[in-house]
Order: sequence, then structure tokens, then C-alpha cells
Amino acid sequence: MAKFIFVTGGVVSSLGKGINASSIGRLLKNRGLKVFMQKFDPYINVDPGNMSPLQHGEVFVTDDGAETDLDLGHYERFIDENLSKYSSVTTGKVYLKVIDKERKGEYGGKTVQVVPHITDTIKEYCYKAAENSHADIIITELGGTVGDIEGLPFLEAIRQMRRDVGYNNTLYVHNTLVPYISASQELKTKPTQHSVKELQSLGISPDIIILRSERKIPQKDKEKIALFCNVNIEAVIEAIDCKYLYEIPLNLAKQHIDDYIVRHFGLEAAPLDMSEWTKMVENIKKAKKEVTITVVGKYPLQDAYLSIHEALKHAAWHHQASVKIEYIDAETVDIDNVEELLSKTDGILVPGGFGERAAIGKMVAIRYAREHKIPYFGICFGMQLSLIEYARNVLGYPEAGSTEFSENCKMPIIDLKFSKRGMENHMRLGLYDCHLALGTKIYGAYQVQDIRERHRHRFEFNNQYKKIYENTDMVFSGINLENDIVETIELKNHPWFVACQYHPEFLSRPNKPHPLFLGFIKTSLDIRETKSL
Ligand code: GLN
Repeated sequence: MAKFIFVTGGVVSSLGKGINASSIGRLLKNRGLKVFMQKFDPYINVDPGNMSPLQHGEVFVTDDGAETDLDLGHYERFIDENLSKYSSVTTGKVYLKVIDKERKGEYGGKTVQVVPHITDTIKEYCYKAAENSHADIIITELGGTVGDIEGLPFLEAIRQMRRDVGYNNTLYVHNTLVPYISASQELKTKPTQHSVKELQSLGISPDIIILRSERKIPQKDKEKIALFCNVNIEAVIEAIDCKYLYEIPLNLAKQHIDDYIVRHFGLEAAPLDMSEWTKMVENIKKAKKEVTITVVGKYPLQDAYLSIHEALKHAAWHHQASVKIEYIDAETVDIDNVEELLSKTDGILVPGGFGERAAIGKMVAIRYAREHKIPYFGICFGMQLSLIEYARNVLGYPEAGSTEFSENCKMPIIDLKFSKRGMENHMRLGLYDCHLALGTKIYGAYQVQDIRERHRHRFEFNNQYKKIYENTDMVFSGINLENDIVETIELKNHPWFVACQYHPEFLSRPNKPHPLFLGFIKTSLDIRETKSL
């Protein structure tokens, strides 16, 4: 039977509880246990896919095509396990399920209530995650902060879980903040005590407390917290600010949090081996070279492109370099300022996106990369726009466009194929196959011909127009054979002009950088080095 870890947060948001949860996952995985993670988000939106990246950061996509909160990206990067639709649960999803059932009469006329109907549905997601993943340990992070009204049904459900499956099969980890007051030069434990009291008033007593702090927490303060919050002293763990996210599992390992958890569950587990992870972190710290990458997107914001941000770092670290990532709002890019904005960068990336706004600026950037032989990486919308830009400016078809911008587009080289088959608004989500042509740059990066990558798009290249690209520098290097969909393109006679219809960033891991990011960063670094010679 699976064991359940529930991770909550108190005092303030942005404590890094998602990273702590993922780090615990990594430690348990490295003790030979199979780990699965899920996130409970108390907001009412049913589908994180519809939320604005401006407010909520990127939409992460799983293998099975679930559109989720960006925290799942962190989980996957840390535990290197592919998650699923059971990993993403929102209040909206839970209520929708219960109300649907009620509408169908499945409650037989009973009064439908938060307890037990909503809480039972929440618990069902825990059990389903266990059943489908066959994991030894399910780690569930509850979004928000203890005390939020909207989190209450989730807290009630996880409280019941201990009653349902027993003390030794459940573990509560609470994250708090220990602020430093510079006037008195003291760290303060009171907010933690209050937050734990609040949790206890809801019937949950934490087994482990993780204290986020700017500086080292003295033993006497830890003892105070242990006493007042009713936890063992070994279960009072500090999480000091780190320069690199990926150091956090190592900090937690030093405090033997994994031992405490394994003991609590009465599990047999291998000794902890973090040698590969330690080597990776040492590598990160050793980076001597630097490379600058400019992301030309709709939102000049790191969180909106979080997986790309991380994937660029993973690839740079692999090449013993650090990467400086600049975000430019594509709407501000035009032919007059493009030189000033992009002439100094080592690589240009145009990420996924929707709608016409900013497409013009993105195409100006793509043209600049193409003409100035600056390494270029186009992702999803970035591939579609690369094809339009090429048709317009190289092949001489000013009318080339996408039906995403105008349904009456005279030359729809990017079009809706799926919806024409009667599936309006159907997104192509999740893993699909792609077959790569031998001898191409992309094949050179992957070194295999058949790959599977995650998708999230509605429009695609319209194969009718393939002939206009014949005998040009544009190469269609990867195809989904099943549905004859162009998946990757690249330019000959350019050091690195590569674009793909899928989202490679979702599969990059700190210890397994993605081949396309590796190729892009390597070329950008090499060209920078030759320039400085
Ligand atoms: N807007 C484009 C489409 O729907 C690209 C989507 C994306 O970049 N994720 O096909």
C-alpha cells in the first residue's frame, strides 16, 4: 500500500514548499523508492490551461496531455518521473465532478455537502494517484497558505486521510518562515508557532516542520519550535536560502529528513546515494563561461516561460557555462530597434504563444536571427512564425500567414487541420511521435530517429504549401508519420536555425538536459568564443 505525504505551508506564500516537496521526492527516489507527486490547487478554475501566464506563470503539460500548474514542472525536474492528470487537482475540478454526479442523480437525492462529498472526491484523487502510478510514496502539495478559506476542504480531506489509512501511512510536512529582525538581530519563531496552531485547530498535527530562513537557525530556536509545535527535534528542518534550487535536496539530506520519513513509514529502503546529484550541483557552481540568450515572447517574464528558463540553464551547465537569459516583450521589437536589441545576444529563442499580438515583433526577431546567422531556436508558435517569416521574406509570398490571425488568410500556410475534421478548438496535447530525417541537425542532436515529445497547439503547418519550400534552405526534418504533421524544421547554411512544433522544454531535467537545448546552447557558446578570439 502507498504511503502519503502531505505538504502544507503557513505564514506567507512563496516559501518554496513546492521545491521542498520535490526535494523530499528526490531523496526518497534516491533511496530506491518509487515516488509520485500531485498538487492540490484551491482555486476555482477547472483547468490551469485557461489561466493567464501573466498571473499564473506557464502552463505545464504532462505526457498524457494534462495542462497543469507550473509546479508540476518543478516536480518532474526534481524527481525525474513523468506525472499525469492525477497530479493536478483544483477546487473547480472537484466541484465539477461532484455537481456532474449530482445532476445525473448519482447521489440518490441525498443532500450533497462539502463533508463528505467534496472531501471524498478529493481523497479519491489521492487514491487514484496511488493506484495508477503504483508508487510507494505519493507526495501531495497543497497550494496556498494554511488559513486561506478556499484551502479548508483540502485540509479537511487530508486530515481524514490519516483517519482512513492510519498514522504510519500518512505524514504531514508543514513549511513556515522564520524571519530575521535586523533591529534586534534575532530570528523569530512566533509566526511558526501560530501557523502550526492554526493547522492543529483544523485537526492536523505536523510531523515535520521545514523552516525557511535567511540564516542558520540556532539549536535553541529549533528546540523551542519542537516543544511548542509538538514535533521531534530531528523533525525540525531548516531550509536556508540557496543560490541554486538544485542544492536544496542536498541541504535536506544533510539533516536526514529522508531517514525520518522512512522510519515513520516503517519502510525498507536503500541507503541514500546523492553522488550523481552532488556532482551535478558541483558542475553548476564550476561554470566559468557565460552565454546570453534572448527570449522574444509575449510576456517579458521568467515564470511565463519557466520550463524554457530551466531547460536553458540545464543545457548551459552541461557545457560548464552559466546562461544569462533576457526577456524581451515582442511587441516592442520592430525593424528600427531590432539591431540595438539583438545584435549583442548569443542566441535568440522564440517560445510558444497564441494570437496575433506580438507575432510581428517575433517575426522581426526571427528574420534578424536568420539573416545575421545568430543561433535561433523556435518553439511551437516559434516554428509556425519561422515558416511564415521565410515564406514572406525569402520566398516572396507577402500573403503567407496563419488562420489563427485571420480566418480569411489568403495563403494559410499555418492552419487548423484537426478542427477541419470536426473537432473545433481541439488542442493537440501530450506525447506524440516524430520521425527525424537522417543527416539533419536535429537528428545530430538526438542521435536517434524516433522520438516522442509533448505538444500543446491547435494549428499546424499546412502540407499543401510544402512545395513552395522545395529546393530552398528550409528543411522539414521531422514528421509525425501517423498524421503527416510537420514537427521540426531547420535551415541549411545557418549555424543553428532549428524549430519544433512540440515543447521540448517539458522534458529537460537538470541531470538530463534536452538534446535540442544542448545543441542550441553549444552553438551559441561556440560562436561567442570565436567572436572573442
Ligand atoms: N498558437 C499556436 C497554436 O495554437 C501555437 C501554440 C503554442 O505555441 N503553444 O497552434
